[in-house]
Amino acid sequence: MVYKIEEKKGRCLECGKELPYGRSDMKFCSPSCKNRWHYVHDGNIRGLKRKVIGALERNYEILDSLLEDGVSRIDIPDLAQMGYNFDCITSYHKVRNHNEYRCFDIKYYMSESTVFKLERCRKPARP
Ligand SMILES: [Zn+2]
Repeated sequence: MVYKIEEKKGRCLECGKELPYGRSDMKFCSPSCKNRWHYVHDGNIRGLKRKVIGALERNYEILDSLLEDGVSRIDIPDLAQMGYNFDCITSYHKVRNHNEYRCFDIKYYMSESTVFKLERCRKPARP
């Protein structure tokens, strides 16, 4: 989420009340508005983190169950219907002319309509 502070210049970020002229560094009309805004703002970040982590876990469960069933290729709409969130991955690489996505230790390639070469990454050698 992007907070467009520029647009709200001159008004309290929390309640929208006009701020006194000549104080462009001021963002809040009162300390209580400032506290309230930060409380909600920080709460949103926590909520967002929870949401993304939850989606990653769900994605992982979906990919894991596909692998269990021996599926290595699936149409994107089918995967989306299972509740897969394509925005939530742990990494992305361009490998030659393919886009490789990873969700923890499971990786896949994705074309415009299909997820393919779904497989678990080789485990790194442990010392
Ligand atoms: Zn205010």
